[in-house]
Amino acid sequence: MDAPVQEVIKQHLIDPEICIRCNTCEETCPVDAVTHDGNNYVVDAGICNHCMDCISPCPTGSIDNWRVVTRPYSLQEQFSWSELPTQEDVAVNAGGAAAIDALEDDVSRLLEEARKGLGGKPVAPHSAGKPTVNLYSRGKPATATVTGNFRLTDAASDSDIRHIILDFGNQPFPVLEGQSIGIVVPGVDAGGNAHHPRLYSVASSRDGEKRNANNLALTVKRVDGGLCSNYLCDLPRGAKIQVTGPFGATFLMPDDPAANIIMICTGTGSAPFRGFTERRRRAMPDAAGRLLLFFGARRPEELPYFGPLQKVPEKLLGKFFCYSRVPNEPRVYVQDRIRSEAGEIAKLLADSNTHVYICGLRGMESGVDEAFADACRAASLDWSALKPAMRESGRYHVETY
Ligand SMILES: Cc1cc2nc3c(=O)[nH]c(=O)nc-3n(C[C@H](O)[C@H](O)[C@H](O)COP(=O)(O)OP(=O)(O)OC[C@H]3O[C@@H](n4cnc5c(N)ncnc54)[C@H](O)[C@@H]3O)c2cc1C
Ligand code: SF4
Ligand code: SF4
Repeated sequence: MDAPVQEVIKQHLIDPEICIRCNTCEETCPVDAVTHDGNNYVVDAGICNHCMDCISPCPTGSIDNWRVVTRPYSLQEQFSWSELPTQEDVAVNAGGAAAIDALEDDVSRLLEEARKGLGGKPVAPHSAGKPTVNLYSRGKPATATVTGNFRLTDAASDSDIRHIILDFGNQPFPVLEGQSIGIVVPGVDAGGNAHHPRLYSVASSRDGEKRNANNLALTVKRVDGGLCSNYLCDLPRGAKIQVTGPFGATFLMPDDPAANIIMICTGTGSAPFRGFTERRRRAMPDAAGRLLLFFGARRPEELPYFGPLQKVPEKLLGKFFCYSRVPNEPRVYVQDRIRSEAGEIAKLLADSNTHVYICGLRGMESGVDEAFADACRAASLDWSALKPAMRESGRYHVETY
């Protein structure tokens, strides 16, 4: 693992630009962590225990701000602010972006593993929104209510992939497209220890599965013998579950209508891309940038979101479905479609507004890499130089599991 994540802390801050100085948080805080001067209301990092009691009473949402820092901002610094500082690049100081992605060792390890295929330090797109990370931990999880759980794959298919909607009620749970949340199955393992958390990508847009609702969607595949996926897939509506996160500060969507986004996935790797597509559709439907989706499955019946995806207009989303097990049809994998679209792919890769995202089964990584190399070669581009350059500028992202 990279340098110890304990070197960074999550600091609770108040946004001075929005705060109306109503004193509610100071009255609410059970440990007197909130104080003020004639200028600002601020939170004392040495006292705040992240109990979240102040969050919902605040009438403006200004209290719900967090930064991952290596040295907490002092009261004097906070008193002097007229706006919040941007998130500092703690990755530089604390040894790897995992430090900000997740403060919990288990989660940090899972993310690090999922991004191995990147071949270097993950970097967020420059135009991406500032993510909130590590708001809820295993010690202080959020409680979500399941408000929807339905099957996305054809009843005849043996692949059970579900769309699960979680509602957070009045607890703040801000997410950006591409982030993940942690789920901890209740109970203990055979050794008497709490189960380790599993990560699931957010499959909805930042403004909720239902627009402007405090909910989000997950795309969960039932894994044979799997603990958490079976727990989630069997949850009835109304069930309460404990959620940690949000996690992930780099696998984020560029929030730029000019950005071209090439998305490559298999199975539940489609989850973040559903979020990306929803975001484009809602926030910038006439964006000039192209969205392209290469989606691999064995058969159409196993493609999650197959029906709704068909209805997304080509102008918003270019779709390339790749089936590898349709009887009497040649096997087509995502890398084959990338090769057959090599002309357009190379043109996009040569454009500095293009971002690539790969998500889903680890097994597809090498094939996709070779297909990009081939597409580049045919256009006299050098993929071996272009790929690290794209990664370093926050335009190449991998999350496989
Ligand atoms: C960044 C990230 C994002 C992710 N996003 C998603 C997502 O959007 N959707 C999604 O579905 N998944 C996602 N995952 C994968 C997810 O976190 C879990 O790994 C997955 O759901 C399996 O977890 P599980 O608890 O069901 O299986 P586990 O209990 O962890 O089991 C894993 C493996 O061990 C085998 N196994 C376990 N117990 C037994 C047993 N008793 N006998 C035989 N075999 C056994 C299982 O068959 C399985 O192959 C993501 C992972 C990462 C890292
Ligand atoms: S999170 Fe809890 S301890 Fe921190 S300021 Fe709010 S109420 Fe006080
Ligand atoms: S409750 Fe919210 S708006 Fe009121 S002082 Fe505290 S941070 Fe500001």
